[in-house]
Amino acid sequence: MSLANKLAEERRARLAAERLLEQKQAELHAANRKLGKHARALSHEIHETRAEVQTVRDENLRVKSDLSEAHQKVEIAERRLWHSIATIQDGFAFFDADSRMIAANHAWLAVFDGLEAVQPGISYVEILQFITEEGIVNIGAHAPHVWREHMLDRWQQATPEPEVIRLWNGHYIKLIDQRGPDGDVVSLALNITDTIRYETELKEARRRAETANRAKSTFLANMSHEIRTPMNGVVGMADLLMDSDLTEEQRLYASTIKHSGEALLVIINDVLDYSKIEAEKLVLHTAPFDLERCIHELVTLMQANARDKGLDLLVDYDLFLPTRFIGDPGRIRQILTNLLGNTIKFTETGHVLIRVTGVPPAADEAAMINVSIEDTGIGIPPDKVDHIFGEFNQVDDDRNRKFEGTGLGLAISQKLIRMMQGDIWVDSTPGEGSSFGISLTLPVAAPEDVADPVLPKSGGHALIVEPQAASRDILERQLAALGLTVVTCASAAEALTLARPEIDIVLCDHNMAQMDGLELAEALREAGHTMPIVLLSQNTGYAEQDPARAHVQAVLQKPAHRRALIDTLSELLPSAQTMPQAARTMRVLAAEDNKTNRLVFSKMLTGLDIDLQFAENGREAVEVFHSFRPDVIFMDISMPEMDGKEATRTIRAAEDPGAHVPIVAMTAHAMQGDEADILAAGLDHYLTKPLRKTDIITQIIAACPPDARAPQPETTTAQAG
Ligand code: ADP
Repeated sequence: MSLANKLAEERRARLAAERLLEQKQAELHAANRKLGKHARALSHEIHETRAEVQTVRDENLRVKSDLSEAHQKVEIAERRLWHSIATIQDGFAFFDADSRMIAANHAWLAVFDGLEAVQPGISYVEILQFITEEGIVNIGAHAPHVWREHMLDRWQQATPEPEVIRLWNGHYIKLIDQRGPDGDVVSLALNITDTIRYETELKEARRRAETANRAKSTFLANMSHEIRTPMNGVVGMADLLMDSDLTEEQRLYASTIKHSGEALLVIINDVLDYSKIEAEKLVLHTAPFDLERCIHELVTLMQANARDKGLDLLVDYDLFLPTRFIGDPGRIRQILTNLLGNTIKFTETGHVLIRVTGVPPAADEAAMINVSIEDTGIGIPPDKVDHIFGEFNQVDDDRNRKFEGTGLGLAISQKLIRMMQGDIWVDSTPGEGSSFGISLTLPVAAPEDVADPVLPKSGGHALIVEPQAASRDILERQLAALGLTVVTCASAAEALTLARPEIDIVLCDHNMAQMDGLELAEALREAGHTMPIVLLSQNTGYAEQDPARAHVQAVLQKPAHRRALIDTLSELLPSAQTMPQAARTMRVLAAEDNKTNRLVFSKMLTGLDIDLQFAENGREAVEVFHSFRPDVIFMDISMPEMDGKEATRTIRAAEDPGAHVPIVAMTAHAMQGDEADILAAGLDHYLTKPLRKTDIITQIIAACPPDARAPQPETTTAQAG
């Protein structure tokens, strides 16, 4: 190889080496740069990590201090809580799910009187064991193990019932234990000794009050008995005295005695009733009764008072409403007597209307009955309307001074109605009048054993002559509902122009201006009219004595009882039925030991067509019953030798089967319970002394058998006596 070549080759080699060197240097440079960059990143990271470490360290420190602060707070709270629990008077303890005590306050532990074993860690079973062994709880007649089992059973319930235990020292503790969701139990022991003592004292006070109240009721019952017996003599004799020949002055004295006696009895009855209701001693006696009859009897009784004041007493009994219901007739009558008595007392002119309406019941249901008693009297100011139902309350003392009364009537009525689940209210306009309303829901009673009156559906024509518009309307509606075609007028003069042959019956009022009812009847007959005439009179006794009575076919007590009206119409419209001839006199036996009362009784019945015999005690009553065979017996209850109840029982035992003589009790006892007792002895009815003539006569008439003559001629409506 030439030198030149060699040189060239060397140069090439050198050049290549230089290039390689350059390349390696560049690579080294790049590696250096990368290294530098990495080192920088690393140092940055180290820096950051150091900062984080510092932060965490700070955080740790803060958490540590927070924790210790919280811990302190918890300690304080716990200390306070325990302090509170320790200071409360009632016992407080916790148990864990295994029924071991965790902690208990002083009051809870105090019961164990320093027993050291009773402390946190003890089980409930062991506690019960200590209680019975040490006699801490008075377990009464229970055997200790029975008591422990009972307590443990209770403890294991999910929600144990509170239990009252009595400690050895007489204290009462109420245990209230509550189980938490994970089985822990919080146990409270409340000392209720004071409450129990208070309750016992209250019970004792109540017992004493009830005893005193019973004593008061018994006292009132005795007092009423003691007062009624002599009052029977006073009122009865005054009544008889008035029937005898007296000078004007003597008559005034006698009537004053009678009225004062009756007024006294009303007051006694009111006070008695009120105290009975207050003492919750009043019991309602339900029985079937006829509401319409009850109202008419009342009206008859009050008629005299109303007539004296010139007031019309009207009854409007809904024709489609049943009349027989099941309720307490005595109490319903008492309420109506009070309301009706008030309306007459507080009304000077106009009328008093008793309206009975109701919702006829569906089968087997009770009827809703409304009775309203409306008057045209002095009325009641609106601000007194509630006041008058309070006890001893009257509208105002000045105005009332001229009216008698205790102010108890409405209070009693309201209480009675509430006992019957009914309602009472009043609507009134001063100077115009008042309307007292009562509503009652009463079951309908089966009709009496008498066929319902039915009018022949002849569709006859009736003429009503009645000056009083309200009364006329009522009668018109009643007759129209019975299928009659009705013509009405307000005076006798009009009636004479309206009377025509096609009129089948005339109903006229007795008391009319210019020409009264009987004069009208006479005038009609003179004009040749032959249709039957019915006279409606407030004073039937008076009408019966009038010679012109011969012109009318019937005299009805006004307002007419619906049944009496229908009976009269059905008798007069078709061919009249002939009454069977009664042969013998009715026999009445009265057993009464008091001589004065025997005299009063016989005098009251003077004029009746009856055969009356007396017995002076129960034994004699039984003898006379056998020999005399009475149709009705009046029986005094308290009599020597044999009392009325005993005598009745003996008579009932001796009676032929099927024969049942009505026995009416006469007693001065007015307290509740006596009545039931008396009726239980076999007596049928009950009259309280002082006896009223009307009541006795009503009982006699009701007992008249078909083969005896009616004890009172013609009208059976007894006048108030
Ligand atoms: P008494 O009639 O014995 O005073 P009540 O309790 O029956 O007691 O009545 C209370 C009062 O209500 C009566 O005193 C009277 O002021 C008033 N009062 C009751 N009914 C009527 C009435 N129909 N019209 C006007 N005031 C009446």
